[in-house]
Amino acid sequence: MHRFYLAKDHFFGNYIMSNEKEIISQLSRVLRAKEGERFIVFCGDGLEYVCQLTELSKIQAKFLIIDERPGEREPARFITLYPSLLKSDKFEWLLQKVTELGVSRIVPVVSSRCVVKEISPVKLKRYQEIIREAVEQCGGARIPELEPVASWRKALSIASAEAGEKYIAWENSQESEAIAADGKVLPVNLFVGPEGGYSEEEIEQAKYKGIVPVSLGKRILRAETAGIVAVAKFV
Ligand code: SAH
Repeated sequence: MHRFYLAKDHFFGNYIMSNEKEIISQLSRVLRAKEGERFIVFCGDGLEYVCQLTELSKIQAKFLIIDERPGEREPARFITLYPSLLKSDKFEWLLQKVTELGVSRIVPVVSSRCVVKEISPVKLKRYQEIIREAVEQCGGARIPELEPVASWRKALSIASAEAGEKYIAWENSQESEAIAADGKVLPVNLFVGPEGGYSEEEIEQAKYKGIVPVSLGKRILRAETAGIVAVAKFV
């Protein structure tokens, strides 16, 4: 069954309705959908809705909800990634890959060596679209939260207030076993630096907040690769 995303505001009791042109064209032109056909619709709340298309016209698509069930492909752990901002092509790639892997929340960070210091409204919309499309493609049922850009200090205070394990990926750390997934289902918070890495001060400040520097292996990975390796260790 084809599955696609529709925001919660398309749900009305036992029905899901959309008059969005792109949804109607995707159903009629791309999927050649017929009334009576079944689809999986998800709105990002972690559930999947088995629906029957009851009406498809040029102006509206209407589905009857037949069944709802938890998403079958959700990760066991709530993973928050704190990636330092990267140039947009690399950041787009990182967002897509960590979403496929099952990250739950993303807090973009401006650390001292970031070249990029903000996300424009246009870029933010693009990033959210990339995340949504990645969830649709990989069979996820929950849309990872893309939080507002945080300063270094703000990111440290957000993470230190979180439950669970906290790590900062640092290529000079001798610790690595700590990051190996050990079956625990505590939430995990992962910091990954920018192309220029973290400063010594940033590593000390993270340690002071109980965020443990860990190695991702002997090789120096690109920032976008490191984000993927770090998340992949926990899903
Ligand atoms: N200082 C590096 C550049 C940083 S790599 C250099 O000299 O080229 C970008 C980010 O990826 C780092 O800040 C770190 O968070 C992460 N990273 C890369 N390789 C890593 C490794 N082997 N172990 C832990 N983190 C790593």
